[in-house]
Amino acid sequence: MKKVLMLFLGTLFVLSYMANSDIVSAKSSTKVKEEIKWDWPVEGMLTDHFGTREGSHFGVDIAAEKGKEIRVVEKGTITKSYYSDSYGNVIFVKHPNGMETLYAHMSERLAEEGEKVDKGSIIGLIGNTGKSRGDHLHFEVHMDEWNINKTNAVDPLAYLTDQQKAVNVNTPHIENKEKVAITIAQGDTLWSISQKYDVSVDELIGWNDLDSNLIIVGQTLYVLKQKI
Ligand SMILES: [Zn+2]
Repeated sequence: MKKVLMLFLGTLFVLSYMANSDIVSAKSSTKVKEEIKWDWPVEGMLTDHFGTREGSHFGVDIAAEKGKEIRVVEKGTITKSYYSDSYGNVIFVKHPNGMETLYAHMSERLAEEGEKVDKGSIIGLIGNTGKSRGDHLHFEVHMDEWNINKTNAVDPLAYLTDQQKAVNVNTPHIENKEKVAITIAQGDTLWSISQKYDVSVDELIGWNDLDSNLIIVGQTLYVLKQKI
């Protein structure tokens, strides 16, 4: 009888332990997600979202002036700092909670592999290197280590402070501009659009991360327009 009771108590203990650990891990993962609200890595205008280009865009694009300082969103260690044909000057940062962030197309890299960085450290400058046309930061967030298939990539906007706030409060040079979505009509060219909105063709290409000058009817383009 004593044996049966011991077995019974033992089973109860194991079951309650399992249940508790489940709750703990579920809670802690939600907690991490909800608590993260990073400042933007650079003050600028959001010009492309995560998941666009038929799901092949694994980050967000933030247009800003060339040479503007790019800050790491959270303390961590530089895991890679190099030049690639696609990312251009790129830096990867591994954070203590296991997430990894990536900063691409920079004109200059200001941190080396292995370096420890604090939250807000300047790690590079805005540029137009690699597969990029126009000055902008391509910023990726990965729940775990970056991999070539980017299976850990998540929408960076879920982890950044409210963009409007960042733009309005901290970005005087673009506070009088607004982002306008335009749909390409028959006969439109990047040149005609640039004339209409008083912007340059290079700016249009950069803001929309276009690979070529080719645009198609029905395509949506974003333009930063001076507010009147
Ligand atoms: Zn991008």
